[in-house]
Amino acid sequence: MPQSLENHVPAKDDQDDLVFLEEHPAAPATHAPREVWRVMIIDDDEDVHSTTTFALGNLDMQHRPLEFVHAYSAGQAREMLRHEEEIAVILLDVVMEQDDAGLHLVRYIRETLKLADVRIILRTGQPGYAPEIDAIRDYDINDYKTKSELTRIKLFTTVTAAIRSYEQIRKINDSRRGLDRIVHASTELMSLHGVQNFAAGVLTQIAHLLGQETNGVLCVQECPENGCQELVVMAAAGQYVNHNNTQLTCSTEPRIASAMEHTLEERRNHYEDDAVTLYFAGKASRAFVAFLHTNRALTEIEQRLLEVFCSNVAVGLDNVELVSHLHNAAFYDALSKLPNRTRLVEILDATISGPGKDDATLSLVDLDHFAETNDALGHQFGDELLVAVAERLQSRLGQHLTVARIGGDIFCVLGDATQVNPTTILGLFQVPFSIEGQDVQLSATLGLVRLAEHEGTGADALKDADIALKRAKSMQRAGHFYYSRSMGVEIRERVRMMHALRSAFSQNQLFVVYQPQIDLVTRRPVGAEALLRWQTADGKFVSPDKFIPIAEYSGLIIDMGEWVMRTACRELVALRAAGHDNFTMSINVSQVQFRHPYFLEMLRRALADTGAPPEFVELEITESMAMEEPDMLIKMLAQIKQTGVSIAIDDFGTGFSSLSYLQRLQIDRLKIDRAFVTEITGSARGSSIAEMVIQLGRNLGLAVIAEGVEDERQAQILQSLGCPLAQGFLFARPMTADALNGWLSNDALEGVA
Ligand code: C2E
Ligand code: CA
Ligand code: CA
Repeated sequence: MPQSLENHVPAKDDQDDLVFLEEHPAAPATHAPREVWRVMIIDDDEDVHSTTTFALGNLDMQHRPLEFVHAYSAGQAREMLRHEEEIAVILLDVVMEQDDAGLHLVRYIRETLKLADVRIILRTGQPGYAPEIDAIRDYDINDYKTKSELTRIKLFTTVTAAIRSYEQIRKINDSRRGLDRIVHASTELMSLHGVQNFAAGVLTQIAHLLGQETNGVLCVQECPENGCQELVVMAAAGQYVNHNNTQLTCSTEPRIASAMEHTLEERRNHYEDDAVTLYFAGKASRAFVAFLHTNRALTEIEQRLLEVFCSNVAVGLDNVELVSHLHNAAFYDALSKLPNRTRLVEILDATISGPGKDDATLSLVDLDHFAETNDALGHQFGDELLVAVAERLQSRLGQHLTVARIGGDIFCVLGDATQVNPTTILGLFQVPFSIEGQDVQLSATLGLVRLAEHEGTGADALKDADIALKRAKSMQRAGHFYYSRSMGVEIRERVRMMHALRSAFSQNQLFVVYQPQIDLVTRRPVGAEALLRWQTADGKFVSPDKFIPIAEYSGLIIDMGEWVMRTACRELVALRAAGHDNFTMSINVSQVQFRHPYFLEMLRRALADTGAPPEFVELEITESMAMEEPDMLIKMLAQIKQTGVSIAIDDFGTGFSSLSYLQRLQIDRLKIDRAFVTEITGSARGSSIAEMVIQLGRNLGLAVIAEGVEDERQAQILQSLGCPLAQGFLFARPMTADALNGWLSNDALEGVA
């Protein structure tokens, strides 16, 4: 580091060395307030005054001569001591107005005036008269001598010892007072928020500690790892007040810059006769440095106190930096520097409760196909692209607008409807973005919410915008969509239903009904499909077409599906016990269930626990499900087949199964969707989808069943087309287990008849 600094400012070396030579502790000129040791002589005998000054007159301790203060009675001394300052030693006559006037004065000095530092030497003319030992101890008396005892030499040594002891006491007390002030200053500082406030507080407190005007700057050392040593002003006061937030350089403030650079390099404080430069070590973050003008050089004690203060404050600065970093991390996106979702919600809350609500529009801006761009061109490129989008949104939409980044490729704009509208925002994407010399054309989809039409919190508004965005995307890249209240009602209804469904399931309010499947030729039942039912507390039935998607969406279908599986298997076992043993139970399995890692295990356990014979259990999976992830499905179906259960493709004809694919799937049965059965009646025979499915089943060697058969005509046509099995209201509606039992017994008879 010294190397780089020399390279930096080569011409300044000499000057700096002068400025930063080792300090000269206790250099006489630097101690203006204590240039002399003040000694007070209190004695009613004038001769004592003159002999004492004569004896001590040329005493010089640590380059400081003595200065005498004279009092000729205890009364006069009391008066004077109230105003005199910095008396180091008092030579006090015991016997003056009264025999013990001196002792009373001592008590007055210590107890009333509370002068604890001053050293007191008692003298008495009468050898026989000595104050009690207690008084000497209680009033902190340094020495007690008879006047005859105090020869010149003795007096000299006694006073020297007293001055030394006074100086030590002063130092200790100064330190203690200083430490008190530091504790106070630190407490004050801790109540300040933000690095800049804290920095300003530090400057003020230093000046305060030293009894100086606040005239200086506090800088932070930016990017020290590059060796570039940029000094950025965090706080400025006095003549520098305009320097705030600027960079401090050798050309703008040569003296301060070089003082600071040296301080940073040597990592310690530097003291000059008219200024101090203080170093605050940044342990967790950056180092700070302060420069302050002083009207005098600092004492050693002050320097030591500053050292304590600086290390104290360094920790504090570190902490506020950490806190503000955390604050930034919590509220701002690191890449784009824009507010993040959390911060946006705060801003939204403020907008909603403020006067601008009615004019404001919120728009989510979702970049189309960003994931592909990212994958194709790399994350670095993707990041640059996001930053470019952030900059364009911010710079083109005006100052009074909030632009936030709330997700990977989702931005958010909040502001006046004149700016936040599809034309303006989508218009920004017409010009390509230039990244690393390449033009990238982006498009975006918007989900908008007019806050005037919005009720609820900021977070709700964001959710609404998200709903609008999803709608815009589902409309084949329509570009944008405005949220409307009815959409929210719909969503809230779904959430409400999810809670209700969860509690209904946990309170066993769901049940399974069974819809018979019959042989079209014999019209005898061959099996039944298990269908889930939900009857709410007010007696209404909720259609499974409504609640099954919610159960899937919320994951509830995993537990619910298992329950249906076990219930249906148990019913199958019960039916067999009742004599209906050539009977198959069909159970619907949703995609979410099917993909669950424990599906197979769940199936095996259900079969084992209930004792249901697998060859009489059939799983129905939808055709659209069969179309996704073919490899996974083929493997899965093979494993399921090993358990012995059979598989039907539900709603067949609605998907786009390719023939070759169908051949690879180990399935047993195709279930013609109700829509194609309904169609049969009117349409010309021979060209119906139902017919094609029947044909296909025959060709592939698969069983075929038609569902939704409502009238006899349909049944007849299906039969004539060669469809062997059917299910529908014509034969039976879905019914409870008990009803099924009865129906089977009766129908069995009817069928024979
Ligand atoms: P799905 O599997 O296609 O079930 C057949 C649906 O058609 C049943 O409706 C049934 O009541 C109805 N249906 C039967 N015959 C006729 C008829 O002649 N005319 C008319 N108009 N409808 C008929 P449901 O019970 O409302 O079930 C609707 C859908 O809910 C089912 O369609 C199935 O996808 C799903 N579902 C029902 N229970 C379960 C279950 O336990 N698990 C899973 N995953 N899905 C289920
Ligand atoms: Ca079904
Ligand atoms: Ca179906």
